[in-house]
Amino acid sequence: MGTNGWYDSETGNTLSILIRSDDLNVVLDAGGGLHKLDRYADLSKPTVIMLSHHHLDHLIGLHQLVRFRFKEKVTVVGIIGTHNILHELLRDPYSVPLGLLPYNIEILEVKEGVHDRPFNFHSRLLFHSSPCLGYRLELDGRTIAFCTDTGPCKNTVELARNVDLLITECSFRSGESSDLWPHLTPEDALDIKNRSGAKRLVLTHFDAFKYPTMRDREEVGERYPDELTVSKDDMIITL
Ligand SMILES: [Zn+2]
Ligand SMILES: [Zn+2]
Repeated sequence: MGTNGWYDSETGNTLSILIRSDDLNVVLDAGGGLHKLDRYADLSKPTVIMLSHHHLDHLIGLHQLVRFRFKEKVTVVGIIGTHNILHELLRDPYSVPLGLLPYNIEILEVKEGVHDRPFNFHSRLLFHSSPCLGYRLELDGRTIAFCTDTGPCKNTVELARNVDLLITECSFRSGESSDLWPHLTPEDALDIKNRSGAKRLVLTHFDAFKYPTMRDREEVGERYPDELTVSKDDMIITL
């Protein structure tokens, strides 16, 4: 639904991904792209929103929550502290307070580990400027790793071990690196794919400043046509 990092621009909205599983809508991060949720999701199913961390390009779409008509339970999964952060962000005068939404939202704070509620998933800390979780999901007999925002670290490889799909970020251009503001280059992402045995790699969270046009992204795809897929908003992938 959104594939930008940092801010919305002509290349699209900030990060939000919908997984349409048999029984659930699973949303990975809630950036600006979340506004498309009712275009693509069946809101008569339960919805789980999984948050990697609290930078605004992963939360700002929650401002639109009030207009969705969820018919089933909504659960937000996030790192320890998510409950307080969301109540701070979604309150008067900034937005509609969580308590005034026309449906109940359960907030489930998780540490690193293995979890069986609301479905089977693993969480591990990634390498970022703010505490950030990566996830490995098991849905409908498929495995998906979601690792953003992060620099290279062993937990990305562990989460992605032999998964059917690795979704990770591409904030940096080739050759860049930073320990103060850790992110991945296309080559870093490929290294995680190769070391983990992930079957497929999709890049997302393209920094809106470093990748200002779709052409900048396409060049990455053209360099590694058999090894990765470059995402764009509204792209649908079937597993
Ligand atoms: Zn980000
Ligand atoms: Zn971040």
